[in-house]
Amino acid sequence: MHSRRDFLQKLTASAITLPFLPNSTSLEEFYSKPYDGPVLRVAIMGLGGYGSRVAEAMQSSKMAKLVGVISGTPSKIKDWQSKYKIPEKNCYNYENFDQIKNNADIDAVYVITPNALHHNQVIRVAKAGKHVICEKPMAINAKEGQEMVEACKKANVKLLVGYRMHFEPHTLEIVRMRKAGELGKITFFQGLSGFKIGDPSQWRMNKQLAGGGAMMDIGIYAINGSRYMVGEEPIWVTAQETKTDPQKFKEGVDETITFQLGFPGGAVASCLSSYNINNLDRFFLTGDNGFAELFPATGYGPIKGRTHKGELNQPIVTHQTVQMDEMAAIILQGKQPMVPVDGEEGVKDLKIIDAIYAAVKSGKKENLKL
Ligand code: NAD
Repeated sequence: MHSRRDFLQKLTASAITLPFLPNSTSLEEFYSKPYDGPVLRVAIMGLGGYGSRVAEAMQSSKMAKLVGVISGTPSKIKDWQSKYKIPEKNCYNYENFDQIKNNADIDAVYVITPNALHHNQVIRVAKAGKHVICEKPMAINAKEGQEMVEACKKANVKLLVGYRMHFEPHTLEIVRMRKAGELGKITFFQGLSGFKIGDPSQWRMNKQLAGGGAMMDIGIYAINGSRYMVGEEPIWVTAQETKTDPQKFKEGVDETITFQLGFPGGAVASCLSSYNINNLDRFFLTGDNGFAELFPATGYGPIKGRTHKGELNQPIVTHQTVQMDEMAAIILQGKQPMVPVDGEEGVKDLKIIDAIYAAVKSGKKENLKL
């Protein structure tokens, strides 16, 4: 089990200053000093694999606290109540969670359910007047994503997408280097995301619930990564699909897609997402004056990387612990993260995904306007 002490030990092993934590303190300083400022009180919706990981990691967060749950399974609610000391009045199911609007002890809901459910659930949370953190992909197409952004605007609540890599120290060091011009003019990005998926009956293999296949689940890392690594928005995509097992990967559930993105400054990206290739989790960025590589790039860690200057040795952190603290600072203090995580960011990725699926169908270059 992940404990606060483990987390601090990992952090203090590396006294590195990163200018992205609440109030611009270093990671080490923030996690080693007592904190008595405002705390974001969060309810998790969807107590599955990733919800459990976030709940565990949040035990080490200082600005975010798990205080409530929303689940369709009463036995899970009971387990979480005893594990995390969650009071009965902060427990909801999928039918009654609109009542959360009357609960002054919950500030935000973190939606961690199958992709296709996010749209309706986020809109309901917004209507209940609570801030929303929504897992990636935020929806199954850009139109739905845009509706979620508008619903949150109308309700005057914040909408953030669970892009945990946007707070990961190795990733941010490369973004810093690129912004500082240390890589020179950016010319190429490669993003590879793949693993062999198991059980064909899981929701990830059901188009109705997943919205697609590997692209929706992990291709989004390469798409999103290409944007913050290159530092521009793509203007075109091309894409090709390969399906070796149509029995397992039904119509609309992509097994493997290779795709290319073109950027206004002339850089190109070459990416791949697959549910049938293992050990594929690598980012590579190159420019006229240098390069950066992350391998693994987006797993739960440790993330490893190197650049033309040598190995990266940023602190190894529990991604979701730092993510929740940063998101609390964004929601409570209006903090601007180095790489945005708002709903509009999520919609941009969905526009690219829509264009990739269109390019697979048309076999042509699809233009993009983000
Ligand atoms: P999971 O299958 O482990 O959990 C899904 C949860 O949703 C379960 O508790 C399930 O009971 C509940 N649920 C509610 N309605 C459901 C329905 N109609 N059908 C099926 N399940 C239903 O999945 P997960 O891995 O926790 O993924 C949930 C979300 O989190 C997805 O959007 C996924 O993309 C995202 N995720 C993000 C990361 C990340 O690193 N950011 C990692 C894993 C998953």
